Amino acid sequence: MTRHTMTIDGKQVEAGSSTAVINPATEGEAGRAPACSAAQLDAAVAAAKNAFKSWRLDEEARRQALRNAAELVQARVAEIANTLTLEQGKPLAHATGEVMGAAAQLKATAEMKIPYEVTRDDAKGKIEIIYKPYGVVAAITPWNFPILIAMSKIAPALLAGNTVVIKPSPFTPLSTLELVTAMSQALPPGVLNAVSGDNALGAQLTTHPDVRKISFTGSVPTGMKVAEVAAHDLKRTTLELGGNDPAIVLDDVDPVAIAPMLFWSSFMNSGQICTAVKRVYVPEGLFEPLVNAIAAVASQIKVGDGLDPTTQLGPINNAMQLERVIALVEDAKKRGARIHSGGSRLDRKGYFFAPTILSGVGDDVPIVAEEQFGPVLPILSYKSIDDAIERANATQYGLGASIWAKDLARAHSVAQEIDAGTVWINQHLALTANAPFGGCKHSGIGEAGGRWGLASYLQKHVINQRFV
Ligand code: NAD
Repeated sequence: MTRHTMTIDGKQVEAGSSTAVINPATEGEAGRAPACSAAQLDAAVAAAKNAFKSWRLDEEARRQALRNAAELVQARVAEIANTLTLEQGKPLAHATGEVMGAAAQLKATAEMKIPYEVTRDDAKGKIEIIYKPYGVVAAITPWNFPILIAMSKIAPALLAGNTVVIKPSPFTPLSTLELVTAMSQALPPGVLNAVSGDNALGAQLTTHPDVRKISFTGSVPTGMKVAEVAAHDLKRTTLELGGNDPAIVLDDVDPVAIAPMLFWSSFMNSGQICTAVKRVYVPEGLFEPLVNAIAAVASQIKVGDGLDPTTQLGPINNAMQLERVIALVEDAKKRGARIHSGGSRLDRKGYFFAPTILSGVGDDVPIVAEEQFGPVLPILSYKSIDDAIERANATQYGLGASIWAKDLARAHSVAQEIDAGTVWINQHLALTANAPFGGCKHSGIGEAGGRWGLASYLQKHVINQRFV
């Protein structure tokens, strides 16, 4: 088993103690992660602060370093993807896609333009808007897409001229440690540091006085804690938080035709996606055919160890999350839910839960009202489109949503009524560098992706000259 190390000031560092990372497919150890001490965290932030002095100065050198780092990640895709599957559970093909996607994002980010604007330039004066980095960025990531989310922070933060200390989730730290080890060979010491530890380490990082910006992805309750501590020091924050995405099906669709896409929009990564479809609203007339069509897809899915190439869905990532999904489904059953496929944990070692389609519950039942973050999809019927829109919006979440229809004009007008950062039409989960990705209401503050994501790591600096 590879010995995993943190990256602090360009060096590979162990800690006085380490913690086990559990493989959710076997419940055995996937590896051990160093438990970063308070002194090591201080050293990481100090290294980042020191490296910032020169890293911020030479944009062309940064671009070249990021290109080189992308090559190093590309060379280690297989190794990092294998670790990702071992600790996260997702099928190896998906893990490989995730690491390749991260390398591609790094490569593309290296070529992005840093904005510079001149809003006045005449005989009397000139106004320039220069975009400058913040300094040390704390990047804190969850366990569902550890590598993609890490890169969505690291790449734009570094191009912008910031330096970074990243703290991955204690459930999936190993692949991030490997990613940073690979990248750091192309970067000056201190520019990119990785520390591993529990939630308390995240809290220490967010309260560190030398951190100027926090880029956090995780749950709403933790996001609120981060916002609270950031406020004491007016640290800038980007918060990418939870979701409970509705899909609204209009009455002109062919249920059998949309069922596979709707299924995967909900169950990809075993439903552990902030912006997966988490509740489907269907007109009464299409209800039975759609439920049957999605249940038919669900019952054919091969659930298993991500290292088995025939596996389509892996386990739930951790025991706590599995217990939560079990409790929500059992609660729904007690309240009269009809189970159309799945409905329980698989009778084998590992945190496996059968892909579950259920109906017969109201919007107030926790499996519908809360973010359940697992392989379960409640399907609900509606009488009128206004009723569906109102119910879709009746939550504090506002990350994504989708409308499924043949009549695109109608779908577009419904899309405009939905409170969400992104509304897809006849698709879901499609993220692109051509659009910002963020949430409204409790789903977050700020955006990732493309030039908007880059802008979140830059602050505006105005030079306003009067010619004398
Ligand atoms: P979490 O909030 O439990 O943990 C996220 C990270 O925060 C972990 O690294 C954790 O160690 C750290 N942390 C915990 N307490 C902290 C504190 N007090 N201060 C600083 N850091 C702390 O979330 P999770 O269970 O790892 O991830 C699942 C959640 O993430 C879901 O709610 C999901 O919707 C959300 N998510 C959102 C997006 C998005 O882009 N909006 C993407 C992926 C996941």
